[in-house]
Amino acid sequence: MATTFKTVYKCRECGATSYQRVVDRAPNGVLQATGEYRCTGCRNIFASLRAWWEPRRQLDFQSSSFPG
Ligand SMILES: [Zn+2]
Repeated sequence: MATTFKTVYKCRECGATSYQRVVDRAPNGVLQATGEYRCTGCRNIFASLRAWWEPRRQLDFQSSSFPG
């Protein structure tokens, strides 16, 4: 069972507007949120909400790979 959270943000990968908390079973058998987030669209796991919606920085772009 996973709760889906709707947001005003969009996944930077697929544009989905909802995510789920990643839940895992702790050693004591209790289900706990791991603090990570899973996109409901592309199913990618993100370490933080910000990482989920924040567009990739383009500072690392290789300008040589740019046409022109
Ligand atoms: Zn996504």
